[in-house]
This record gives sequence, C-alpha cells and structure tokens, in this order.
Amino acid sequence: MTYHKSLNYAKDLDQKDSLSYLRDEFHIPKDKEGNECLYFTGNSLGLQPKITQKYIQQELDDWARFGVEGHIKAKNPWLSYHEFLTNSMAKIVGAKPIEVVVMDTLTTNLHLLMVSFYQPTKTKYKILIESDAFPSDRYAVQSQLAFHGFDSQKGLVEWKPREGEDLLRIEDLESILEKDGDEIALLLIGGINYYTGQYLNIKRIADLGHKKGCIVGIDLAHGAGNIQPNLHDSNVDFAAWCSYKYLNSGPGSLSGLFVHEKHSNNRDLPRFAGWWNHNKETRFNMRQPFDVLAGAEGWQLSNPPILSMAAIKASLDIFEKVGMDALLQKSKKLTGYFEYLINEIDSDTIKIITPKNSEERGCQLSIQVRNADKNLHDKLTKNNIITDWREPNVIRCAPVPLYNSFEDVFRMVEILKSLL
Ligand SMILES: *Cc1c(COP(=O)(O)O)cnc(C)c1O
Repeated sequence: MTYHKSLNYAKDLDQKDSLSYLRDEFHIPKDKEGNECLYFTGNSLGLQPKITQKYIQQELDDWARFGVEGHIKAKNPWLSYHEFLTNSMAKIVGAKPIEVVVMDTLTTNLHLLMVSFYQPTKTKYKILIESDAFPSDRYAVQSQLAFHGFDSQKGLVEWKPREGEDLLRIEDLESILEKDGDEIALLLIGGINYYTGQYLNIKRIADLGHKKGCIVGIDLAHGAGNIQPNLHDSNVDFAAWCSYKYLNSGPGSLSGLFVHEKHSNNRDLPRFAGWWNHNKETRFNMRQPFDVLAGAEGWQLSNPPILSMAAIKASLDIFEKVGMDALLQKSKKLTGYFEYLINEIDSDTIKIITPKNSEERGCQLSIQVRNADKNLHDKLTKNNIITDWREPNVIRCAPVPLYNSFEDVFRMVEILKSLL
C-alpha cells in the first residue's frame, strides 16, 4: 500500500471508504465550544451508537408496561435475552454458538473460568502470564495462586520481552515451556497486549501450552471486535473479553465468555453454580437438584442485567450488519495510514513500539515518548485529541474503523507534528 501525505488524499480515502457512513451512527464527543474531538481511545471506551438509547428504552418501556411479566411478554423476552446476543458474539470471535455466552464482567469471568480450569497439583501449579499483563489479570491470577495455598510470587511465571526490546517473541515462550512446562498448570495471556498492541499468535500459544499439558486461556479485552481471533480453530481452552472497548456497549458493560466445545459436555469440571447455569427446562420448578447446562451457558450464575444487555445488542447489531471482514479490511488500511504518517515525522522523540506487521496488531498503535514526557499527551488533550497515556512512557492511539476517518488520522498527526 502506498499512501500520500495530504489532507486531500485523506479526504479522498474517506470518500472511497464504503464504511464511512458508519461514523454518523455514533455520538462523537465534543469540546466546550461544540467542536468534535479527535477520538482515539476506542480501545479504552468505545463510543456510543446512536441506536443504543432506543434499545435500552425498549426494555424500560416493557418493564413499565409489564413488570415481572416482561420476562415472557417483553418484545425481547428477558428470560432468554442473553440468547439474542450469542450468535453475533460468536461470529465476532470466530466461535461456535455453544462456546459463547455474554455474562458478568471480565475479571469475574476470568475467576469463574479459573475455578474450572486452574486445577493445580503440588508439582504442576504455576501460572504463566505476559510480564506486561493488564494489572487486573495479574492480580486475578496471583489471588488464584494464593487461594490454592501457593506463593503468589513464586507461582507466577512471566514471559518477558528481551533486554532492549519491547515485544514478546514466541520462541521465548517455547523455551520457558521447555524448561519449566512441567510445573506450569495454566497460561493466561492477553491476545492483544494492552500496552504494546502486539497481537500474539493464539493458536501457536495453545499448541505450545497443550504440548506440555497446560491449560490455555486468553484475555481478549483488546481483541474482541478489533481482530479475528478464530477462537474455535485456535483450540484454546477458554477466553473472556469485555464489551465496552471495541464492542461499544457502554462503561462497565458485560463480558463475553468462551469455553471450547471440547469441554462443552464435561460435567466433571469443578464449577460454581447458580440457577442460571441450571437446566432451562426445570429452572423454575425450584426444587430440582442442580443439573448443569452444556456449553458456555453452563458458567452463568445469575439472571443478567437486561439494560446492559440491551446496549450490547445494539452494538452487536451494528457488527452483524457490517461484518468483521469488512471492518478488518478498513482497519488495516486506516492504521497503516496512521503508521505511515507518524513515520513521516522527522523526530526522534517518538517511536512506535507496536509491531510493523499488520498481521501482528489490531488498530492500536502505541507511541513511545522519549524521556517519558507526559507533557506531550497533555498537549494533545488540550488540542482536543483524546488519546491515552500509559505509564511508564506510552501514548496509546486507536483509530477505530467503525467511526474514525482517514481525515481524523491526518489531522491528529498534523497536530502531533506541530507539538514535537
Ligand atoms: C480492560 C481490561 C480489563 C478490565 O477488566 P474489568 O473486569 O472489565 O474491569 C481486564 N483485563 C484486560 C486485559 C483489559 O484490557
């Protein structure tokens, strides 16, 4: 792909972009004077689709109208509401419907999955994560180690970038597993690292882990809606992701949970129970012994918050309409243009640490700032550009193909250049 460095060229790319109409379907935040900001933080909180209000209003209306009977009589009956989300969510992550459910929140789901899939023994008990794992994931696995009576430092194995490098190498994971694999019970890896934006080869990780008898789980918080992880074919044992980043379902919204089909009918897996993972046929007989549902639904505990689910449904209907293939095609082009423009800036103050290969990243580019000068990020904010500063020294920027334009990217880099 050859790009050009001019506003007219960027505008031309927008005109030729068959997805450019989608921007209008989202609320773009504005500054005090009413100017639209340049929003590059869809990796942190995705923007609100304009239809979301209508979807939530529908449930508020049905609640007002029917009270408890809305569970059956609502336009979208609440009793089975989560089922309306399953097929679309499964497509987004490349899974079979039996493998996916929308429930609870991300960190909670990681714990529920570890209840089932982290079964340490005295000698095989360690958990492997990336050294730069998202803090919540690190705390979660450390607390699981402690919960099972292990030392939460000694039990943690970290996959680190080499000295002087920023990215992880798969061959280093291979060496760790070769050496210590017999002591490692679980790999819990961020499919896309939140800091560097590196997209790891999930299938390869699963193969390497399984070869050593480890369970492999993936956190897809930065992957879902951003790349196609093909979860089923990757053969990972489990995965979870939130829906408020690239899936635009609102602050703190619910999580997706994946359990590979090979575990669908394993009733012997230890798990926590509630009435929502009990057989739907007899759930309301109330006096039945527990009879677990097959597939991912067998990890639910509670009846879900419908208002949050309605926001997810609004968002998934957009993904369903557009399709991941078209989105990914635009995404590669948009981020490619962003990368090109940044690399054209003649300055040694900034450096992109995200992989150059578009197969090894999603839309996010992580820009490392020399001397960890946070001022640069603050100046961007003053110029109405919303990016995200992550300690110690990175500005994360995500042009999202659903609502960011080539012109956004061009204008952002022009301002960045003027600030350097
Ligand atoms: C965003 C994110 C979280 C947040 O977890 P919540 O339980 O939704 O608060 C956890 N892990 C990763 C990798 C994330 O990117």
